[in-house]
Amino acid sequence: MEKYQQLSRRGFIRAGAIGIGTLSLTPALSALALNKPDKKLGIAIVGLGMYAGGQIAPALQHTQNCYLAGLVSGHPTKAAEWAAKYNVPSKNIYNYQNFDTIAQNPDIDIVYVILPVALHKEYTIRAAKAGKHVICEKPMAVTVKDCEEMVAACKKANRLLSIGYRMHFDPYALELKRIYQKQVYGKLKAFEAANGFFYNTDPKAWRLNKALAGGGSLMDMGIYTIQAARFTTGMEPVAVMNVRQEKTNPELFKEVDDKVFWDMEFPNGFVAKCKSSYSDQLSSVHAEFERGNVDVKPAFYYNGNKGTTPDGPMNFPPVIQQTLQMDDFANCVKINKKSQVPGEEGVKDMKVVEAIYRGLASGKRELV
Ligand code: NDP
Repeated sequence: MEKYQQLSRRGFIRAGAIGIGTLSLTPALSALALNKPDKKLGIAIVGLGMYAGGQIAPALQHTQNCYLAGLVSGHPTKAAEWAAKYNVPSKNIYNYQNFDTIAQNPDIDIVYVILPVALHKEYTIRAAKAGKHVICEKPMAVTVKDCEEMVAACKKANRLLSIGYRMHFDPYALELKRIYQKQVYGKLKAFEAANGFFYNTDPKAWRLNKALAGGGSLMDMGIYTIQAARFTTGMEPVAVMNVRQEKTNPELFKEVDDKVFWDMEFPNGFVAKCKSSYSDQLSSVHAEFERGNVDVKPAFYYNGNKGTTPDGPMNFPPVIQQTLQMDDFANCVKINKKSQVPGEEGVKDMKVVEAIYRGLASGKRELV
């Protein structure tokens, strides 16, 4: 594999969120996992980068249902260092070429794909074909078609697929959803969400390369705001409108979007206003209800999210969102239930993303 630059996510506070969502039954799954219901399931991480090293591997030190059992990397020295740090046996280290032989490794039940976006599809499908359940990071893939192929491949292989939307395990996001559902402050009148960070980094970074990233801040950061509106309301947007973009540095952002603004229209006529950026530190949800506002800011951090309601501050003890997320998925594998954050969630978000990109090109309202 070619050498590439590790990116730096300056200004992006790395921290963490709880939640119990609805689960639905799936067909018979993982004989492998079902044969060891009381044991921790083994997770192999594919791609030992910033998120894997800063969040996922540390979060796996606190999981009850799964543990870090394998590593897949293009850099043997780094993999060996990780193996020593996390006590991973050398027989469970793979590279991108011999990855498929993971099929013969009973230590690995779940593969967690934490690669640049354009590689998500290939490694999800290869993992499923190797008989492993899969967690794939967001955004799920670069096109809706690719996302659908990933869902189909996992279904065909009879494996579970989940997307790394840790928001489903964030107490603040869950509380906002509860407030909406119970109409604690009446009906929702307006919803705004923004997510971004300063990404004025190396022009060679994969996030600025369309072929590897698929898009810019919209796909990387904006997807959280799409999730927030869909997760809170439980509704699916039917159209996007008022779509526009700005480029603070056209040379740096020559391949991908920098700042994107859009409105999402829901079936009942309700509109959510969203913004993503690679040139602003943004992380907020503002929800106006009939009897007052709920503000969550920061809304999308790993840790340290904060919220206020008309009754005062929201107060939740800190959680490690990724620990809850992985434990929930491992439990789903063990008890043979579909994840509350299945591949279909990623497909739905990418449908919105594609509509927004169509809106940027057409300057018109676009159906999702
Ligand atoms: P990094 O660039 O830090 O890491 C990506 C890793 O992928 C690299 O370290 C490398 O691992 C591997 N890789 C394989 N091929 C390539 C290639 N051609 N170019 C670059 N890397 C390659 O990215 P992040 O960790 O920040 O992001 C990875 C994924 O995680 C993305 O999908 C991102 O959206 C998602 N993410 C999710 C977050 C969340 O909150 N849910 C937060 C941050 C990221 P190796 O050297 O071991 O081969």
